[in-house]
This record gives sequence, structure tokens and C-alpha cells, in this order.
Amino acid sequence: MEENRTRIEVVVRVRPILPEESRQGLINSRIQPETDKKSLVVKFPESKQQKRFKFDDVFDESSTQEELFARLKLNSLVKKVVEGFNATVFTYGPTGSGKTFTMEGYEYDKGLKPIIKENENIGLVPRTVKALFDEIKQSESQVEYTVNCTYIQIYNENIYDLLNPAQLTPNSPGLKMRWNKSDEFYVENLCIFPCFTYQEALSHFNSGLRNKIMASHNINSTSSRSHSIFSLNLEALDKEEGRIVSSRLQLVDLAGSEKTAMTGNEGLALKESIEINKALFTLRQVITTLAENNEAFVPYRNSKLTSLLKQSIGGNSYCLMIACISPIDTFFEDNHSTLNYAIQAG
Ligand code: ADP
Ligand code: MG
Repeated sequence: MEENRTRIEVVVRVRPILPEESRQGLINSRIQPETDKKSLVVKFPESKQQKRFKFDDVFDESSTQEELFARLKLNSLVKKVVEGFNATVFTYGPTGSGKTFTMEGYEYDKGLKPIIKENENIGLVPRTVKALFDEIKQSESQVEYTVNCTYIQIYNENIYDLLNPAQLTPNSPGLKMRWNKSDEFYVENLCIFPCFTYQEALSHFNSGLRNKIMASHNINSTSSRSHSIFSLNLEALDKEEGRIVSSRLQLVDLAGSEKTAMTGNEGLALKESIEINKALFTLRQVITTLAENNEAFVPYRNSKLTSLLKQSIGGNSYCLMIACISPIDTFFEDNHSTLNYAIQAG
């Protein structure tokens, strides 16, 4: 990560063509990651033009989860968190582009239940959580760390607690967002679980994933229409100096950015699309305003998502955006708009 904190690091990951897609004869003729691993060339056959997009890093379809974790230097990111900085990692892109694979890496069965087992495909969340606890273990002995986690889902501008099944019943109104004296937003009555080991933190994350299935049945909050935020909150007590430093790492899987998620003519579909649109639009505004070093006018309050990310994307924090692309031509429009969004964020 670079030292310039108001800048957001932006990378792109292009997922492989899936076996089913290749059986259907679907191909990618328009989006080509370059060998410099920093850029992509996008072709527009109608006008015979092409456009080059440059990012901090570009991962082509051959990149593994391990490579992603290493090249993103997430070990250094967790070091910063242990030193007291806040950080956010989020995946952006249309549904089916690999956001959840990138974050979780679990396989899902036909009932859409995650099959949780450790293998080389496990994603950034389990790897980052482990790295964080490893880093804590190696830290100075006069500093005592406590860690807790929370896991929420934002759907239709309502906040649901993925670690509290009682909160995920039909017609649940969700939890209220409040702000404290230092203008920090927080969620009222959210379940907060202490975590002493990485296995403990991860088991909360995994139970949150199982609860997501219940939420999608009960409140219709499927992942294409909701944002999920897994947060690890650290407190470092320096026993010699009697000083406490708090920091937070937020791992975010955003709602699908595809146009169809943002259109809907009536009723719930319309409300959903307005809310997704508003959150993703505000996120972009927040990011671009931060990039202009205009901390005073950052419109965090315009959506729940950006309000809750405030502490870990603005100010003294590190933020990493992973834009995900499904390479096949059928998804070209959504991929192109994902690249346009990402380029503005960087
Ligand atoms: P999203 O969360 O953006 O909707 P998913 O992560 O669910 O997308 O990915 C869609 C499908 O593509 C899933 O079946 C997933 O396993 C597969 N997939 C995504 N990225 C990769 C990858 N890098 N390698 C292999 N399969 C992938
Ligand atoms: Mg997903």
C-alpha cells in the first residue's frame, strides 16, 4: 500500500470463463488484460477503436487466490491495522463477476449453502483474518490486543445483523444507525463477538454466510441486491504507557453493479434499484471527493453503506477496491461500466 492515504488503491480481476459458459460457446473477444499486469485493453468493434485502462494491478483469469493475496500485499495491510490504522477492502462489479469468490472462495451446493472447507481456493477474507491474528501474535509483548467482529447486510437501506438470526425474520425492520459525539456512525444493538483466535473469527464469518441464506428467504436480500460488511475491530492496550488504540478492518462484498439491478419499474424492485444505485453512486462520490483531498465535503451521510464505511475509507485509512469482471462478451456493457467506475475511483 502506498503512503498517500486519501488515494484508493484500485485493482481489477478478470475471472476465467466458466466450464458452463464455454460449453455454451461464450467467448471473450473484447477485454484483454495486458502482460504488464497493470492495464487492460477494451475493444469496441463497432467503431474499430480500443481503449486502454490502467490500474494499480490487473489480475487475469489465470491468477489464483494465493497470488491475489500476495500481490495485494494484504500482509502489509493487516500490519497497518495492527499498528492502529483503519482499512477497507471491497469487491465491486456485476453479479456473477467473481466478487464473492474473491472474498470467500467457498463452493456453494445446489441449495446455495456454502461448503466450508479449507483448500487453495479459499478467498481473501479467511486469508486476511488469519494474517491479522498472525500479526498480532508477533507484535510487541507490552501491547495487549482484543479483537471482536460484526457482520451486517445492508438491503434496501435497512441494516440486518448476519450474526443474529432473530434479526432476520420476515418483516424485520432492521437495526438503527446512530452517530456518536465524534461523528462516527454505528449500528445500534448489533451483536459483537469477541474473537481470541482466527478460527473463532472465521467461524463467525461462516455462520454469517449461513444466515445470509435465511435472510435471502425471509427478507429477499439476495447478494445481488445487498451489501455485506464483515468487520474486525481491534483494541491495542499498551500496558506500559496505559494507552489504548482502536482500529478496524472492514471486508465488503457489494451488491451487483449491473444495470438490471438498478432498474425496476414498480414496487419493491424499483425501491431496491433506487437504493442500490444510491449506495453505489454515493460510494463513487465519496471516493472521488476523497481523491480530491476534499475531506470537508465528503457525502458519507447520503447512504448507510458510506456512513458505515466512513471511518475506514476516509482520513487516516487504507482502502482497496477490487473491481471484478466476467470476461464474456454477453456482459460487456456491465464490465465496461465497472471499468469506468473503477478508473474514477483510482
Ligand atoms: P458475484 O459474487 O460477483 O456474483 P461469484 O463470486 O458468485 O460472483 O462468481 C460467479 C461464479 O463464477 C461462481 O460459480 C464462482 O465460483 C465462479 N468464479 C468466480 N471467480 C472465479 C475464479 N477466479 N476462478 C474460478 N471460478 C470463479
Ligand atoms: Mg456474490
